[in-house]
Amino acid sequence: MRTSLVLLSARLPDPASGGFLPQTALAVVDGRIAALGDERTIRELADPAATVIDLKGAVVTPGLVDGHLHPVSGAELTHGLDLSGCTDLDAVRSALAVEVRRLAPGAWLHAWGLDPNVFGDRPVESAALGPVLDGVPALLQLFDAHSMLASPRALELAGVDGPRTFDQAAEVVCDADGHPTGLLLEDAACELVERAAPQPTRAERRKRLAAALRAMAAAGLTGGHAMDANGDSLDLYTELDEAGELPLRLRVAPWCQPGVDADGLRALIEQQGLGGRLWRVDGVKLFMDGTIDNGTAWLERPDCHGESTHAFWPDPAHYTHVVQELHWAGVPTATHAIGDAAVRHALDSIEKASHEGSAPFRQGSAPVRPGSAAVRHRIEHIETVPDEVVRRFAELGVIASMQPTHCCDFTRADHTDNWSRRLGEERAGRAWRCRDLWDAGATVVLGSDWPIAPYPPLGVMAGARHRRPTRDLSGPRTTRARRSPPWRRCGR
Ligand SMILES: [Zn+2]
Repeated sequence: MRTSLVLLSARLPDPASGGFLPQTALAVVDGRIAALGDERTIRELADPAATVIDLKGAVVTPGLVDGHLHPVSGAELTHGLDLSGCTDLDAVRSALAVEVRRLAPGAWLHAWGLDPNVFGDRPVESAALGPVLDGVPALLQLFDAHSMLASPRALELAGVDGPRTFDQAAEVVCDADGHPTGLLLEDAACELVERAAPQPTRAERRKRLAAALRAMAAAGLTGGHAMDANGDSLDLYTELDEAGELPLRLRVAPWCQPGVDADGLRALIEQQGLGGRLWRVDGVKLFMDGTIDNGTAWLERPDCHGESTHAFWPDPAHYTHVVQELHWAGVPTATHAIGDAAVRHALDSIEKASHEGSAPFRQGSAPVRPGSAAVRHRIEHIETVPDEVVRRFAELGVIASMQPTHCCDFTRADHTDNWSRRLGEERAGRAWRCRDLWDAGATVVLGSDWPIAPYPPLGVMAGARHRRPTRDLSGPRTTRARRSPPWRRCGR
């Protein structure tokens, strides 16, 4: 047994008191905490090869958990050249030029994280990127992950030469002459061109996922709540887990969509508890609305464009019924609810489920009391709510799952961004009320919604405390924030 790591001048949280332990040093043997004590005794335990770190009063935690992630789709979306650090067109052009030189002739260029604000007042179109992409089939994902910019060669290979019609709100954006500008809005339009590119093999997708999860673990995450089980996600988790390549614990919530019937609901209930050594299905994800940016949230009063007036469920009473069924089956729900009306309806439904009908049960265990810890429902995002709604979280024992960096990085402190302008002063002033929820006694969990926002947990926690853009946290205090494009859609 060798002491491999010694931490000195540490502040060690005491879960019992909520404060800190009197000990300030810690020794690790074979990956486990072996001793706590004062600096002198612990230093004596260190053998010559041990790593000794003076933490200068920093807090030591056993690991952090991201409350809202999309690992599989995130690993796919963040494939290729990272453009998220490029803040103007010149930077984008030079990054693309470097990548083009690396590519084999005829190979596709994939990039992600393109901020539409780099185009300034110009339209977002491939012509703005200049000759760098001439003859290169390229697909540049915009940072909202719902739109793409395709190069002329990519459009040609895909046979896309004019406007198309779709059975969902998607668009191949065209100029006045009917020629595509390269901008593709929403999945159906993006897929037209994506299909023409070589598809990653399953082995490649698995490798990308493993790499993304390793990077999360390296950033300090020991767990994450995966808010979907889409596609072959569960198979991939199983394979990685069995191969010992799952570096953090995952709790997975598959989606329950409007229109779900009794069989669909039963299948979701039966899926609960599936899992392996380090992952398991626990909970169901529902959507009560869309987003404020796109005018698809559900607000008590319309936004300044007269939008965000409807629930995502055509019949909100059906949602209420589904929550009740899941509650009775002992399944915790996680509801995406961004607008004030969506949050209110989700809370009303949970309250109704807790107070009506037969006692909820978990199979193989004793009946639980309504509102007891056995079925912990949660609401995701909660972007704008009035005081009386804030109070209900603690009263009902509903967990508030918040993504503070969506506030810090996608809105502006002076309320000139799309999100704030749509809501108006009063409602924009009730943005992401993490602290108010906490003060009102609610359990608040923090997360990133990666790939919508970066997952490094220290940045997420800093966002909750400082409410300033991530890129400004290390510099002087400013109100600079990224402008949100009108079609940004976050919080899937
Ligand atoms: Zn999400």
